[in-house]
Parts: sequence; structure tokens; C-alpha cells
Amino acid sequence: MVIKKDGMPFDIPTHLKQLTLDEKASLCSGHNMWRTKAIERLDIPAITFADGPNGLRKQPGEGDNLGLTISLPSTCFPSASTMANAWDPDLLYEIGVALGKEGRAAGVDVLLGPGINIKRNPLCGRNFEYFSEDPLLTGTLAVAFIQGVQSQGVGASLKHFAVNNQETQRMTIDVCVDERALHEIYLPAFAQAVRQAHPWTVMSAYNQVNGVYCSENAHLLTELLREQWGFDGIVITDWGANNDRLAGLVAGQDLEMPGGVGDNDRRIAQAVRQGILDEAVLDRAVVRQLRLIERVHASRSSLTPVDYEAHHGLAYKAAIQSTVLLKNTDDLLPLYVPGKLVIIGSLAERMRYQGNGSSLVNPIRLDYPLEILRERGIAFRYAAGYRRTTEKTDKRLLAEAGALAKDAETVVLFVGLTELAESEGFDRQHMRLPANQNALIHHLGQITPNIIVVLCGGAPVELPWIDQVKALLYMALPGQAGGRAIWDLLLGEANPSGKLAETYPLHYEDTASAKWFPGNRNTVEYRESLFVGYRYFDTAHQEVRFPFGHGLSYTQFAYDDLALSTATLQADEALQVAVTITNTGECVGAEIVQVYVHPVAPTIIAAEKTLQGFVKVRLQPGESTRVSVTLDRHAFAQYRVARHDWVVERGAYDIQVGASSRDLRLCGRVEVEALYDGRPAEAPDVSAAYAHLVENHGAISDAAFAALSGTPVPQPPTHRRRSYTVNSTLADIKHTLFGRLLYRVTMRSAVRMVVDADPERQLAARQMIARTMSQIPLRGLAASSGGSLTHGMVTAFALFANGRFFRGLRQLLRSLPPKHPQIP
Ligand code: BGC
Repeated sequence: MVIKKDGMPFDIPTHLKQLTLDEKASLCSGHNMWRTKAIERLDIPAITFADGPNGLRKQPGEGDNLGLTISLPSTCFPSASTMANAWDPDLLYEIGVALGKEGRAAGVDVLLGPGINIKRNPLCGRNFEYFSEDPLLTGTLAVAFIQGVQSQGVGASLKHFAVNNQETQRMTIDVCVDERALHEIYLPAFAQAVRQAHPWTVMSAYNQVNGVYCSENAHLLTELLREQWGFDGIVITDWGANNDRLAGLVAGQDLEMPGGVGDNDRRIAQAVRQGILDEAVLDRAVVRQLRLIERVHASRSSLTPVDYEAHHGLAYKAAIQSTVLLKNTDDLLPLYVPGKLVIIGSLAERMRYQGNGSSLVNPIRLDYPLEILRERGIAFRYAAGYRRTTEKTDKRLLAEAGALAKDAETVVLFVGLTELAESEGFDRQHMRLPANQNALIHHLGQITPNIIVVLCGGAPVELPWIDQVKALLYMALPGQAGGRAIWDLLLGEANPSGKLAETYPLHYEDTASAKWFPGNRNTVEYRESLFVGYRYFDTAHQEVRFPFGHGLSYTQFAYDDLALSTATLQADEALQVAVTITNTGECVGAEIVQVYVHPVAPTIIAAEKTLQGFVKVRLQPGESTRVSVTLDRHAFAQYRVARHDWVVERGAYDIQVGASSRDLRLCGRVEVEALYDGRPAEAPDVSAAYAHLVENHGAISDAAFAALSGTPVPQPPTHRRRSYTVNSTLADIKHTLFGRLLYRVTMRSAVRMVVDADPERQLAARQMIARTMSQIPLRGLAASSGGSLTHGMVTAFALFANGRFFRGLRQLLRSLPPKHPQIP
């Protein structure tokens, strides 16, 4: 129980009665970038938030939500996209605990993570912050992570709710998605995390879903989140995501972040006074915030000092477990005896180990790959091969690398996405590595066949040179201890065991969503519907570079004796799937056993198979173990739009067990009894549209998509001059004189915040600012201005941009912030 200074317990109903209307309204938005408001006269403390999903980003000063200004040192774990490759909920739990401990020690009450949006398209700039293309894998890892964080008395914030799958126009884009895809692909991980891990907060996303902003979407925030899934925490907006505060409050949006001058708080209080807003709606949000305060304090045990050395060890373990060996011809790896080690690639010198943006961590320590080798006394020769700040080939560096490779037994070549290529705030423009890196690999491939590529980055890249290299180790973004983990894996002191949590397509154009990403200025249509990732590739029998779930090891595993607990599954019965796994190789290793369900004859189109269970086992050479996975009825269910619900269709289902979605070793069949036989058919019958999609690699007509989504296809926007509103972006109004001026001023003040001395990071930060800022709507500018701009002021800006100078001026004068804000 929380005890206040006066010795009285923290009693929510009493507080609610004691709070004035203005005080209650003031609790509906933050105090500043990271804190809510405290009400001192009632001993109501503030809540402190901090990012993020793979390390604590606690900023000592005012701060920002793009990672521009420095944060306190903390442990940088591998990015979410990397950790997901470990397929290990226990690891995610441990990391959650570590983050919770670091958060507590830094006075953080709620950690802004995990980010669990589904990887719809490989180019989403923020995919490195998300787990997977598969909802079950995503949800399972999220549950473990949240439980870990919250075990330390620090709340987690499940984000970004929902369907936030791109950075382009992220603050305004309207996602048009059909109901079935919404429920089968984009929502299940949120539902699983809420039901099983009970996060204390959920963060509503920037975008709109089917025409309604997430921050005011009653269907998402109340009907699904609270009424169906039982969420009992508080919904906070993503930073600057609020659109219409009153609509948001009514829809279930409790807290607007970050804080400003309290514009919207005053609007809420006024609406109650005028009888436009029921005070009970305000009370509901206030009670939820008080409950969060109570939770944060009540579940705290004594504070123990953080053992950063142990956390570095955990970061190392995570890097080892998350690395994926994608290719290993002739068993070139491991390099037990390194011989004449030649290392090429500027990323070896300064490896890329984390993503850019709000998840950026200031690592407490950092293992650099080359320094680790020096420390170990391993001799090597090194050439940079390319520059990271440009895509242009530097002929001198290329020649230098070629000369080194000539007399090398083996070349270890570091390549990957640079900070300029991927970041929060913008999407990648293509799926290729920087051109100078591809050129280098082709060049070296002509000199020596023995190339081992170490690949860094937060998302898949095309690998046109794959046949020119013998081994490929995907380190992804391995966190602060990645530089050490690399060598232990390459030199055979550790055995890779990660598997891809997302498919590596051959070419970007092969992805089903490629034609529909990132949409137009206003909308993006998810025409591929539920055919995301392997659900598409495997159904369409589309060749891929590396399938979902793929990953090699220095040992081998045999799969035997599949047993299903029954041949006929009755209603409400669970199916036990058991299989024997044997390590048939010569070294200890871990295998991730995957269980897929394939409906044999579904009455409506369905993905060829879906992942419904997995288990990771670690085995000594020669050791066998029996593993088992339980499939409940949901494993056989499909979402039916006509019923707005999940149903299990009667019929036969194949249970496929294997080492990847394309390496299925064993198969059994079960007949599922169900009341539902698939009839009457869906209304409207959309199966032809889906079939068309698969056959034609993503092409789907307007009419078919309209049938799928149940609404006409949105028309591309027609731009009318002088029709700017607070939802117009800086890029929109840049066509006007005022807009250009505002853009320049905004950019300048954002760039001034960049403190990083490293030239590459500086460049990356500037690029991120340029791309993010131009997409920011005027209302977002006010929300993230820390109080220097009000909603009224940006309304005036829109008027200026429309050429309504005098009206704008009047509006501006009316809306200058009060000298002494009335609300604390
Ligand atoms: C990001 C969130 C982050 C927040 C605070 C936003 O821009 O989308 O993921 O937690 O900033 O930094």
C-alpha cells in the first residue's frame, strides 16, 4: 500500500473527491516531456516515463523523443528485431528484469516498450524495434518482456497500438485494412500481451486506422482493449499523437504525452463546465492514472544497486543467442584456428549495434570487434573497404581491400545497413545494402572464394552476392556486447542458434505488400490482407532467400517420432504435439523446433500454414530429448468477418514440425470436430480476391479490395491550395512563403539539439530530423514543443499558410500562452 507523507493511505476514491475539476483535467496531459503532473497539495506524485525497448533512455534534461540529446548511460541490449531471433521467452524475461532494475534505479516508473508492431513490409524504417512478421512469436516474446519489466515494479508500455507499420507520414497516415487481417495479423500480439502479461500502460499509435486516429479510436481503445481483452491500465498517447483531445478522452485515451501548456486540459475542464463532456468520463481517466501511481509504488520491493557488469554479461548472452548463421558452405565456420586473419569493412571498426531514434541508448560500455581481437592477442590485418557516410565507391579503399584479400586464407567481411540507411522517422527507400558495400563484395568475390560475411542491420537486405561468399553470419543489431559475441561465434567458442523471425525475400518486389507500401500522402491500403511474411511466400510458393525460422548451427539435429495426443480433436480439447530431437553433431547446440498448422481444405482462403507453437532445446552432442507443444483450439481458428469473431472450422489439419517454415521434417494429421463447417459462406465472398492476390503476386484490383475491406477504395487526395489545417504537415505548407520560413526555423532548432560528436551519427541525426520534421503535422509541432507553441498558435500558422494574414494574426494574439498558467 502507498502511504502518503501525512501517514494516510493513498486512497483513490478520496483523492477523486478532493481533486478540483481543473486539477483533474490537468492530469489528462503530461507536465513535460517525460513526467506527468504532481498535485502536491494532495501528495499525488508524478509518474516518470522513459524509453525504451532495448535499453533505458533516461534523459537528464528536458529531452526529446528522437534520441537527439544525450541520455544517462545504461545497458544497450540487442534491438528487438535481433532478440526475436533467439525465439526465447526466458531470455526476454531476463532482459525485461534488467531493464526494470535499471529503470527503477534511475527513478523511472514506466518503460516505453515493448514495440510489437508486425513487420508488414521490410522497408519500414522502424522494423528494428519490432519483433517479427508473425503474431504468435511477437506476442509470446512481448508477454515475457512485460512480465520481466513489471516484476521490478516498473510498468511496461505496450506500443504502438495499433497497425503502425511504417514511418512515412506516420503521424497522419490512414491505414485501410480489412477486418480479418486486422484480427489475424495486426491485433493478436496485443491481445496476447494484454491478456497474459497485463501491461500497466498501452501507448496509442500516431496513425489512423480505417479513418479514425488511434488516439481517439473507441473500437481499439475501449471495445477491444478493455472490454474484450480486459486491459485495466492506462492508455497514453504516443508522443504528439493526440488529434482531438475531447474525442480521445471519450474513446478511452487517458493521458496525452508529452506535456505542454495545458491547452487541452483547459478545453476538457471547460467542456465539463459547459455540459458538453460528462465529468464521469474525466473521472475515469483520472482514476486510471491514480491506479497506475498506486501500482507503481505498491509493487516495489527494496531498491538493489544495479549490477551493470552482470547486465553486460546478459547483453553478451543475448547477442550470442540471437545471432543467425544463414549460410555455411563447406563448414567454413567456425574458424577454430584463425590462420592469417584478414578483416575488411569499416563496420568492423565501428560496428552498428543499435537502431536510431527514440530507442537510442547511451551504452555504459561498448565492445568494438577489432579491439576485442587485439585484447585477445589475435593477429589480423584490416582494411576499411568502404566509407559509411556515402554510397560511392572509394577506389583507393577498394584496391586496398583487394590487395589484402589476395593473400588471405579467409576474409571476414563486415557489411550492413548504416545509420543513414535505417532509422525511426523514415522508411528505407530500397532493400539493398549501400552500393559501395555491394561493389566491394563483388570485387572481393572475384579475388577469393573464402569469404565470411558478418551482416549488421535491423532488417533484411537483398543479397545479390550470396553465391560469391561461403558463410553469412547475421549479427543484426547485437547491442553493446555484440563486438565480443562475434568472435566467440566465428571462432567456435559459441555455437549460433538463432533463427530468422522474419523472411528474407529474394527481391523487395517479391513481398506481397511491395505494391502498396507506403501508400500515398493520406492513406495506405493493406491490399495484401493477411498475406504478410511467410504467410504469403509459402502460400504463393514464392522463392525466398532465407525462409522464416531459418538458421544453421555448427551441429545438426534430427527430428523423430512425432506423436499427436489424439487423431480426433473434440471441441475445447487441446492437442499435445510431441517429438524427439537429437543432437547428431559434434558440439553442444540449441535447436528451435517450430510447429505449424496447415488447414487441409479450408472453405475460405487461408495461409498455407501458420506458426502455432515453438520450443527451444539445448542439447549435448549425442543427446536426445522429447519436446512437447500444446495447441489449444485457437491454433485452428480463423477470424470470420461475417460473425466478427473467431471460429474453428470442422475438418482435417496437418501438424507440421520442422526447423523453418520451409524445412518441415515431420507431419501428422488431426481431425478437428467443430460445430462450424464453414457454411454459410462469408458475405461477401472474398475468396476469389485472395486467390487472385496469391496467384498474381500481390496485385489486387480496386473492386476486390473494396470487397475485402467492405468500403470503397479511398481516392488519392486532390491538393487544394490554401486549404491547410492543423493536420497539414510542414512538407505540405512548405509550398508557401510562411511554410518555408516555419520549416527552416523548426529544422534549425531541432538540429541544434544534436550533440553527438561522431560525424556519422551527426549526419544520421540530421537526416532523421529532416525526414521526420517534414512529416510532422502542425498540431504535432505544438504537442512536441514543450509548451512553447499552443494549439491556437499552430491554428494561426495554418491561417498564415492559407494567406489569411490578418485572421492569423488575430488568432495568434488570442492564443499566446498565459503568462501564469492557471493549471499546475
Ligand atoms: C516514439 C515512441 C517513443 C516516444 C517517446 C515517439 O516518437 O514513437 O516509440 O516511446 O517517442 O520517445
